Amino acid sequence: MQSKPSPEPKPEKGKATRIIHNRRHKDSLGSPYSPVYNTTTYRFADTASLQNVIEGRTPGNLYTRWGSNPTIQELEQGLAGLEDAEDALAFASGMAAISATLFAHGQNGIVCVGDLYGGTQELLTKHLEPLGIPVTFLLQNESDQLTNTLNKPGMLVYCETPANPTLGILDIRELAQRAHEKSALLAVDNTFASPINQRPLALGADICVHSATKFLGGHSDLTAGAVMASGERIQPIAQWRKNLGQILSPETAALLSRSLRTLPVRVRQHNDNAMAVAQAMVSHPAIKRVLYPGLPDFPGHSLAAQQMDGFGGVLTLEVEGGQEQAAKVADSLQVFLLATSLGGVESLVSQPCATSHHGISKQERERRGITDGMLRLSVGLEDANDLIADLEKALGQL
Ligand SMILES: *Cc1c(COP(=O)(O)O)cnc(C)c1O
Repeated sequence: MQSKPSPEPKPEKGKATRIIHNRRHKDSLGSPYSPVYNTTTYRFADTASLQNVIEGRTPGNLYTRWGSNPTIQELEQGLAGLEDAEDALAFASGMAAISATLFAHGQNGIVCVGDLYGGTQELLTKHLEPLGIPVTFLLQNESDQLTNTLNKPGMLVYCETPANPTLGILDIRELAQRAHEKSALLAVDNTFASPINQRPLALGADICVHSATKFLGGHSDLTAGAVMASGERIQPIAQWRKNLGQILSPETAALLSRSLRTLPVRVRQHNDNAMAVAQAMVSHPAIKRVLYPGLPDFPGHSLAAQQMDGFGGVLTLEVEGGQEQAAKVADSLQVFLLATSLGGVESLVSQPCATSHHGISKQERERRGITDGMLRLSVGLEDANDLIADLEKALGQL
């Protein structure tokens, strides 16, 4: 009998379609979404079938901490799809995702480029360096020193772009090329951009990490993290996750899966609102500088326009007068909530010198371009006019 000609490959569906219809398990009730498997373990019919699963002869779930849970696996399938990655892992927090990645791939030495999230900086200097892992920090404008710094094979280059709170933009393609020339891997924290605005793996990075607490979750009601990479890179990270016990709960996984379904539309609105706020603030007399990658005179604008599909929901204002004046503005805002974090539906304001960068000396902050008059805004999904009016009113009280 002649076999049927294989059908034409179907064109890949768009990201929004795929994330909404991401479903691993069909049930007999016809529910469009999967049930939540809160189980920690799975029963077997007999010892032989248990052994078959343990020894990898047949697929099956064993224990949820190992990542072996249908609700978590469905989330991971969605996360991988967002970054067009071969594989993804979900974690209990962004720091869990970052620490497992650094342990799994940073043992030969880690070179960081540009500004880092405070928690990552602390993990590197307070925990990984004392364990004997060599760590080097290069400023954003020192990335040309990367080649010399990568002095043995198998090192890890680590960066964030856009960075916090300066929104500095790094060239992911160039960093990947320099890393690969020296047999190093490149890991990028893509939290600020979100996968809708930027996909580091497609630009040459090997590993992408996220604090899913931010845009992926999007509602300031869950803590989670994610790593996306090839199966080969993911495998050692999964071992660390298993043995450090960094899995997230199935309930949080289900909540995050729900959030992902609205990610494309949320991020587009965050982008639009942030752009509107940035444009309104540029000419305000009480504002010295607006740092936002979408503004044409922002130093990283053309690079951002090349490697990003949108400029994101975070921007930084520099208020005339310094720390006290900035605090006064933060305290007068009513729609913007005074809180650290970002990426939620509600707009937030924070003062980097008093919060995220409080632990860094003023001299070091200045070396990195972080001034005392800075206010970081996470622009939410409220009406942009209300956000602008809130800022104008607070600035008018100076
Ligand atoms: C918040 C954040 C993290 C840490 O994530 P948690 O979920 O709080 O552990 C890491 N990187 C960046 C860029 C962040 O904004």
